[in-house]
Amino acid sequence: MIPCDLMIRSRWCLPIAPDPKPIERGAVAVEGGRILAIGPAADLDARYLPTAAFDLSNHAVLPGLVNAHCHAAMSLLRGAAEDLALDAWLNDAIWPLEGRVVSAAFVRAGTDLAIAEMLRSGITCFADMYFFPEEAAPRVSAAGLRAQIAFPIIDFPNPWSSGATEGFHKGLELNDAYRDDPRIGIAFGPHSAYSVEEANLQKTLMYAEEVGRPIQIHLHETAEEVAAAVARNGHSWVAQLAATGLLNPALQAVHMTQLSDADIELVAEHGVQVVHCPTSNLKLASGICPVGRLAANGVNVALGTDGAASNNALDLFAEARLAALLAKHLGGAAEGRVEDALRMATLNGAAALGLADEIGSLEAGKQADLIAVDLSGPALSPVRDPAAALVHGPAAAAVSHVWVAGRCLYEEGDYKTLDLVGLRRRVELAMEGCG
Ligand SMILES: [Zn+2]
Repeated sequence: MIPCDLMIRSRWCLPIAPDPKPIERGAVAVEGGRILAIGPAADLDARYLPTAAFDLSNHAVLPGLVNAHCHAAMSLLRGAAEDLALDAWLNDAIWPLEGRVVSAAFVRAGTDLAIAEMLRSGITCFADMYFFPEEAAPRVSAAGLRAQIAFPIIDFPNPWSSGATEGFHKGLELNDAYRDDPRIGIAFGPHSAYSVEEANLQKTLMYAEEVGRPIQIHLHETAEEVAAAVARNGHSWVAQLAATGLLNPALQAVHMTQLSDADIELVAEHGVQVVHCPTSNLKLASGICPVGRLAANGVNVALGTDGAASNNALDLFAEARLAALLAKHLGGAAEGRVEDALRMATLNGAAALGLADEIGSLEAGKQADLIAVDLSGPALSPVRDPAAALVHGPAAAAVSHVWVAGRCLYEEGDYKTLDLVGLRRRVELAMEGCG
């Protein structure tokens, strides 16, 4: 018998890859924070002797979800700007409000609130893009999950920097501080092609290539954005970024609701990562990302919640369901299969963030980032197809356990690394003056 740290036995195990088929009465053996083996529980019990074990007889165990686009601290702006299209939402509501209320303390409390919400609904890794990233990163470290922290680059003065030059300076310092962190990766976060001038986008590319970090950008979010690009440059932002060298596999293009066939060809040719944020795009009436057309061209499409001010939840199971429904709306009922939706929420997200070798599926050697969902509740049972229950049922509320690198961070309502009572007080304090 081989000793191991942990054995998680469950009614169903969904590895996502290499074979997405659920394993009935499966188990995952964990050693040193990584997955040692996955397979039928009977087989693993015959080979491994765990120090600790979980027997989850009504549960599905799957990889932790990867939220590939979020502005975590905007949890404090939930409900602050309703029923507006993107342009008014951003220029008339969100940016002026952020100018008044965002501070280091705001970001600390808001990031913790978002982490509490995300952990509870099975998100073990998220891509953040917000002001004061040097405050957000330690919150992720303390809570024990994983994140890509993109520091914001915007040409004009904002709560964190006087503009792009100071943004680069502070961001590169942050990158130095987290150079070897096992759970936090730093990324460049130019807000959008329309709010960052060409020279600063070029600088972003140069620095990003120099330090080997990815770039995340809001791109082709609305028809107006693309029309303005065509009027100014004679072609779309996708074509413009292709010409300037920004389109590459380390570029994470968020939204992408407006794409011509030529845009899709460029995105596919350059291996760009696409992040689909269906709720945010519908709520701001921005459009729908053509996931089927992108996937047919071999483009990797991940899922994001966007920030709580345009969603208003950080629930990636809900995004997976909506992505499946929108795929059916656009391409017919055979599109948006549950396997595809689950893969978008896990392995595709990992791939978009450059982490596909480490997380996103339950495979031996990968990080033990797992979640368990109790499928015995009235809204989820009886279970004929666990993947369908996870995508089309209210799965987020049924998440019972969350592990990151083999460490249990959440169990049946109990947060192991967050003080919820203290957090509630800090949120109230941060909300004072938040009009
Ligand atoms: Zn966003």
